[in-house]
Amino acid sequence: MRRKLAAGNWKMNGTLAGLDMLADVAAAMDSTRAEAVICPPAPYLLPAVTKAQGTPVGIGAQDCHAEPKGAFTGDISASMIKEVGATYVILGHSERRDAYGETDADVAAKAQAAWDAGLTAIICIGESEADRSSGTTLDVIAEQLAGSLPDGCTGENTVVAYEPIWAIGTGKIPTLDQIVEVHDFIRATLAERFGTDVSDALRLLYGGSVKPDNAAEIFKVDNVDGALIGGASLRAADFVPILQAL
Ligand code: PGA
Repeated sequence: MRRKLAAGNWKMNGTLAGLDMLADVAAAMDSTRAEAVICPPAPYLLPAVTKAQGTPVGIGAQDCHAEPKGAFTGDISASMIKEVGATYVILGHSERRDAYGETDADVAAKAQAAWDAGLTAIICIGESEADRSSGTTLDVIAEQLAGSLPDGCTGENTVVAYEPIWAIGTGKIPTLDQIVEVHDFIRATLAERFGTDVSDALRLLYGGSVKPDNAAEIFKVDNVDGALIGGASLRAADFVPILQAL
């Protein structure tokens, strides 16, 4: 059985004081079997881990470098993330692919670094609006999966997040049929490459404008094992109802 997961991506938002929401998320977890992870900006990782200590809430980073150390001003390594007590790292988010030109190969190298450090990688994939309207969504997904996931992928070291770029921060979400189609396709593609033991164990998240009022409907989809949540992960008042819908 795959444990459901709600992962919050704060992006470059939130404050140190805003980490108080972790206590409210932890309190809500008594009544849910789902797992919760919050990924704040890097300066908040250690305080987040400290606040979440002794609670079931996990902490993750939003990116890491592929190299273990070196002259990479502004970057952070997977082992640093691990050292401060975080357990997850988001990789290949469309905002990084877009703003920093991250390729599938870059994402795969980072995933390998994350695994080497003992982190679970949340690897993001998803089509653009142009891909969707030209009917190439599944081709794009296949290419991103093939290129962004290294050999050695397991249900423990990896989570795949399907985030249609046009649904991120826009309030638009795909139809349930579209989510079913892509999630089924991802599961089948993973089975083909890594075998059914891996594909059955690996969690597939949907991401893009998940809110308290649409979460329950999205979570009914068979191959949706949770969500990667942006805007609605900053406040417990939004994040907790999503977590409880799982
Ligand atoms: P959103 O972002 O929930 O604000 O649409 C999702 C994401 O980018 O991970």
